[in-house]
Amino acid sequence: MRLVVLGGGESGIGTAILGLKKGFQVFVSDNGTIAKKYKKVLLNTRIPFEEEGHTESEVLKADVVMKSPGIPDKVPLIQKLKQEGIKVISEIEFASHFTDATIVGITGSNGKTTTTMLTHHILKNEGFNVGMAGNIGDSFAQQVAENQYQNYVLELSSFQLDGIEKFAPHIAIITNITPDHLDRYNYKIENYIDSKFRITMNQTENDYLIYDADDKHIAEWLKSNKIKAQLLPFSIERILEKGAFIRDNNIVIKTNTEEFIMGITSLALQGKHNVKNGMASAMTAQLLKVRKQTIRESLEDFEGAEHRLESVLKINGVQYINDSKATNVNATFYALDSMTTPTVWIVGGVDKGNDYFDLMPLVREKVKAIICLGVENDKIKQTFGNVIDLIVETAGAEEAVKVAYKIAEKGDSVLLSPACASFDLFENYEDRGRQFKKAVREL
Ligand code: ADP
Repeated sequence: MRLVVLGGGESGIGTAILGLKKGFQVFVSDNGTIAKKYKKVLLNTRIPFEEEGHTESEVLKADVVMKSPGIPDKVPLIQKLKQEGIKVISEIEFASHFTDATIVGITGSNGKTTTTMLTHHILKNEGFNVGMAGNIGDSFAQQVAENQYQNYVLELSSFQLDGIEKFAPHIAIITNITPDHLDRYNYKIENYIDSKFRITMNQTENDYLIYDADDKHIAEWLKSNKIKAQLLPFSIERILEKGAFIRDNNIVIKTNTEEFIMGITSLALQGKHNVKNGMASAMTAQLLKVRKQTIRESLEDFEGAEHRLESVLKINGVQYINDSKATNVNATFYALDSMTTPTVWIVGGVDKGNDYFDLMPLVREKVKAIICLGVENDKIKQTFGNVIDLIVETAGAEEAVKVAYKIAEKGDSVLLSPACASFDLFENYEDRGRQFKKAVREL
């Protein structure tokens, strides 16, 4: 069998190694440059590859093609492969054929990384032999090739789910659905929602789907589609018969007859969104029979992921917070919602068709000044110009932090939560977050 891997990044290289190990004839093709560390692996394992372009005749010889999630379906080469009837799958699909580990798959518009890390943290604390992969860390395929784990927690983007065929997680989580990446879905939210729900399409009655019952897109989809898996909703708005909910300021988890109860204030991660992430992770752990004490301790001591409402420093009584990963309005909504002090808000970047309207009540209530950190800031200025007196435009993280420092007073917070992508001024959101932190430390 000839396996062609399109894209020589983390998922591509992992797939190539796994394919080689399983007896496939492997060829890796990338239309850009393959990073040095990956090229080294290919050379060491003698896997043939090409870069700076795809040789169509070579690619078309494939029996099966693994496409990196970064390559859109509409690319002519992918269309051609499909016309020729050649199977095009994702790394997740490919790797899942070679493991019988228990899989927890986590998707959603926001909260994937946090929920994945938190779930992994709980399972690890219980002594599970558990790996973490997908959009995070070493690729799933690579870990399967090394035969490492009996359990996996996988962070799954909609692009990875678009390339599945038979993949079925034992426990699937959909954290929430808000418009994102619509450029890849013909600008139709319905297509994006369908893509997220692919996570459950191959599940059976023995599997579980955990989801946010307060999310209107999810609720609507579930009304008009049938699901085989057992449904376990979570809600912060109402009490449920089964699932996870809030009662008297406690989180209640009920996946079976027993209840797990824990005070909201003892959660390590603050904010309503993190209550939800905690509920999803704790339900998963309860389904996998983790002891209550482990779940409780893990939710109490989880340190959180970098760039997600990350406390950086307190200077002269002003708390600086890095939420650079907030690349859409919904993520920023929860960041502002969790603020308990007057906030100098650093926002802006590449706007993916943002509608800032939902933020208005929170901005009125909590924001004392806005610092724009993007090339194009007109929409932000127009939206909030009437409610915020002080809006300053800046052209870099250092300048933004210096301006924030001048404005903020003791007891305030400075929050970087851009609601936008970062590539107008930064390499990526990590670069943005790190430049912000560096500037704060240099104050
Ligand atoms: P993802 O991997 O889906 O992008 P992250 O955990 O990296 O999710 O968080 C992305 C951004 O969304 C961060 O700014 C974070 O604070 C915020 N966030 C985290 N969980 C949620 C949630 N359940 N709902 C909304 N926003 C969230």
